[in-house]
Amino acid sequence: MIARKLLVLAGLAATSLLAACTDASDMGHDMGNVTQERLLAADDDPDNWLSHGRTWNEDRFSPLDQINAENVDRLGLAYTVEFDTNRGQEATPIVVDGVMYVSTAWDKVLALNAATGEVLWRYDAEVDGAHGAYACCDVVNRGVAVWEGKVFIGTLDGRLIALDAATGEELWDVVTVDQSQPYTITGAPRVVRDKVIIGNSGAELGVRGYVSAYDTDSGDLVWRFYTVPGNPADGPDGAASDAVFAQFAGDTWHGQWWELGGGGTVWDSIVYDAELDQLLVGVGNGSPWNYRVRSNGQGDNLFLTSILALDPDTGAYKWHYQENPGETWDYTATQQMTLTHMQVHGEDVPVVMQAPKNGFFYIVDRRDGSLVSAEPYARQNWAERIDMETGRPVELPAARFAHAPYLVTPSGLGAHAFHPMSYSPQTGLVYIPAMQTPSAYEDNAGYTRHIGRWNTGVNFLTPPAGLVPGDTPEARRAYVTANTKGYLLAWDPVAQQARWSIERDWPWNGGTLATGGNLVFQGLPDGTFNAYNAEDGTPLWSFQTERGIVAGGISYAVDGVQYVAIMAGYGGSMGMASQSDWMRRPPPNGMLFVFRLDGDASYTPLPPQEPAPYASTDETFDAATLATGQANWFAFCTICHNGPVNPNLLRSPVATDANAWKAVVIDGILADRGMISFAPWMSAGDAEAIRAYVLSEAARRAAEEERE
Ligand code: CA
Repeated sequence: MIARKLLVLAGLAATSLLAACTDASDMGHDMGNVTQERLLAADDDPDNWLSHGRTWNEDRFSPLDQINAENVDRLGLAYTVEFDTNRGQEATPIVVDGVMYVSTAWDKVLALNAATGEVLWRYDAEVDGAHGAYACCDVVNRGVAVWEGKVFIGTLDGRLIALDAATGEELWDVVTVDQSQPYTITGAPRVVRDKVIIGNSGAELGVRGYVSAYDTDSGDLVWRFYTVPGNPADGPDGAASDAVFAQFAGDTWHGQWWELGGGGTVWDSIVYDAELDQLLVGVGNGSPWNYRVRSNGQGDNLFLTSILALDPDTGAYKWHYQENPGETWDYTATQQMTLTHMQVHGEDVPVVMQAPKNGFFYIVDRRDGSLVSAEPYARQNWAERIDMETGRPVELPAARFAHAPYLVTPSGLGAHAFHPMSYSPQTGLVYIPAMQTPSAYEDNAGYTRHIGRWNTGVNFLTPPAGLVPGDTPEARRAYVTANTKGYLLAWDPVAQQARWSIERDWPWNGGTLATGGNLVFQGLPDGTFNAYNAEDGTPLWSFQTERGIVAGGISYAVDGVQYVAIMAGYGGSMGMASQSDWMRRPPPNGMLFVFRLDGDASYTPLPPQEPAPYASTDETFDAATLATGQANWFAFCTICHNGPVNPNLLRSPVATDANAWKAVVIDGILADRGMISFAPWMSAGDAEAIRAYVLSEAARRAAEEERE
């Protein structure tokens, strides 16, 4: 009751302030008024989007229904806000009493009048561009947290920063990682009571994962929980995780896992379970991926790919559920966790739902981490089933690619990645941006370790003959491409089966938003932002933003008007590493698009643009040079330069100039843009060999396109 009254007062205050003021300093003391009480009552506060998943249940369902399946064709543009970078936009904005707080790529924050798009303040964390080289999956940021007049953001260089919600002024700035190691932060912080919780990324490059809690006022570290053990020779960490590693989790590791950190980064999902006063933490893959390299192929390797429950005040271990014991494919349990209740054998059970990378939809009892059910929501070929007695997968042994390559589905891209899903309590369906992503894995146990670059212990092959249909490498590549797809999947979590789905020929699609208007919104990498009937998937509305969309949308209301907002800007791992025909132009700057019924703001379409020509040369190169170049290309270059997000080297004039190439690759003249010197990992001769391979590959693709 008290919480309700506070809400009404806060709403009134915000409304009158917005009407009276255009100046952020005048909006003043009430900005960023998110509290424990307000979040506990967020279900009854549909106008606001107070935390990452809207409420602490993180269902990304807006109860608002002014925009609905009957009138969504009247949806029009309310306003746009253009950003200053064309890198990926993955953030979920936060809306508090008419003010939107949003983060962009490169860790910039904007506070906006949520009804007009007027910028109230801007903040730039001034991340050194060279740190972008440590970002496995683009220089993205998935959002801020707002709490008691403060805005919190984690940064690519591992800092956690508190800003004044009214002015954007920095209140404190703490370093949460060892910055000499390849850690990054891309995930959104979460706040519980007086602590802000933050994880990190970097398991591809060689780090040890953990999650930390900082005091919201002082920025002091309160507790830290490591998700994997350190080098036993170093002794205990003095961390909240020491006890559980001494009790049983430490014994699940073998070999010299600490040399590459072990992985287990907490890079996305962290959920506060208010009912049981516990923090649920989604833990990532192993570092390196290959289990035989990491742990001699022995042990479960706790707490990789686990949902981990911790005490929010102390970080003490409560329980865990591990999805992939002995993880070896880059499967993660970092995907979104959504809390709800479910009838299980006649009992009302508090559960957490997750659609992680490995393709199974898990429902786990939040009281003790026991498995309620798990069924595949996407094509997968690594497990026969999940055993309900033990909660462990019954694996297909060949899937571990120990003695022969295996076309594993899903690949490390996952059957679902960071792209938010949503759950509508109205339809009872979960809307998953699902993927089918086969990839041929080959054991590479003897690989050369490159700390700070990708370390997987896996060769990603063009499938050899016999593994997939096709007489030629081209035919087998085409088979893999034809089997790479995306789905907007409406999943019934009780029946554990699909209700409806829409197939796409590209997997890397945007997150979803479900609303009380019987709608599901999803953006696509072709730039469209779309609305569907939540019951049956009928397409109802579409708007072309001309920017690939990977983020999830939000909905909120100001002064009785409902808005739907989406961050548009293509990127993320697949944005850097792969592309389709319609992505050949460099992406334009990212943009926030906000819609309302009968919105009539103008949008000027981009001028047409042809892709740059392929680099061409009269130079010739010998076969040995090309082979060295190809190997280094795949080891160092493709992960960032095979998609539309970063410069396409095959179309870059730099490739035709040996001196310019060396200046970039070896001398690092573009380090401030994230293209650091690769001298620590390769010789000038190796770099030149890559140039040779790039030119030969550019010629091959140009000839191929000419034929088509
Ligand atoms: Ca990973």
